[in-house]
Parts: sequence; C-alpha cells; structure tokens
Amino acid sequence: MEVHQHPKKKYYIITDESRCKGCGLCIEFCPKDCLGYSDEINEKGWRVSKIHRMKDCIKCYMCERMCPDFAIFIDENTKEEGAKA
Ligand code: SF4
Ligand code: SF4
Repeated sequence: MEVHQHPKKKYYIITDESRCKGCGLCIEFCPKDCLGYSDEINEKGWRVSKIHRMKDCIKCYMCERMCPDFAIFIDENTKEEGAKA
C-alpha cells in the first residue's frame, strides 16, 4: 500500500498494489492524467498503476469508481493529520 497525500488539500489517495491487476482503467479515466504505469510488478505478475502527479488531482473520485478491484481509494485527513506529508 502507498499513501499519496495531496500537497495542499486535506485528502490522500491510497493505492493497494497487491490488489491491482494493471487493467489501466484508472489511468485511462483520470481527467488530469495523474496516473500511469509503475515499473513495479506485483506478486500476481501485473504491472501496477501508480500516481505520478498527485498535485494535479482534483478529487473527482473517478479512479476509485472505475477500479474493479478496490485497489485505489480516497480518504480525508482528520484535523490532526492535516499536516501529514
Ligand atoms: S481523484 Fe480524479 S483527478 Fe484524482 S487521481 Fe483519481 S481520477 Fe485522477
Ligand atoms: S483500475 Fe484498479 S486494478 Fe485497474 S490499474 Fe487501476 S488500480 Fe489497478
């Protein structure tokens, strides 16, 4: 799992590489081109997706909605976590 904190806004995206099957739907449907393929191959042999440009994310939830394997999702920072990098 990787946590991608938005540099300015109070939310983050979690990617679960162990669930990803590299279908590319999140990459294709992201309107801001934040996602791409990683160099990493997971234990199932899939080339996983990766967030390349978190700063451009507009929190549209399209990646979360499109993923058939619940491998990418958005969550909010609590007040205490607001400064988390
Ligand atoms: S929330 Fe929207 S803009 Fe952000 S990475 Fe997902 S699809 Fe792209
Ligand atoms: S939509 Fe889900 S399974 Fe498909 S590449 Fe993206 S994170 Fe991986």
